[in-house]
Amino acid sequence: MDFLNKLGKKFSETYNIASEKTTKLAKETKLKIKIADTRENMKMEYMKIGEAIYKKYLNNRDDNIALQFITEFKAIDKAMESIKNAESEILYLKNRKKCSKCGEEFEEEFEFCPNCGSKNQVDDIKVFDAEIVNPEESNKD
Ligand SMILES: [Zn+2]
Repeated sequence: MDFLNKLGKKFSETYNIASEKTTKLAKETKLKIKIADTRENMKMEYMKIGEAIYKKYLNNRDDNIALQFITEFKAIDKAMESIKNAESEILYLKNRKKCSKCGEEFEEEFEFCPNCGSKNQVDDIKVFDAEIVNPEESNKD
């Protein structure tokens, strides 16, 4: 009996230590998640500040604050352009187009937007890396 009691005591001690470790680990994990979430929220706030200043730059290119970040804004301009091009290329690959008025996506052969009904003028897909040379034009000499 003494042996079993000792064993039982030992087991419950070990169990308590283990469960304490588990609890501590769970708490640590929770705190780490909290820190990561807080960092993510902070990034969102930084982003909002950046976006607000960028909009200032778009509306008034002489703005003093905006001018301090001109390099970053040029980079954003370039990134926006590149996203726009990639998005229109995706549409082109899917044989679809986007309404220039409401932004609805639809089949390329439709002339009118099924959402807002406006006649569509879609930006041409710009292919930057392929230069199209008209053979008749170049043989005109
Ligand atoms: Zn539309």
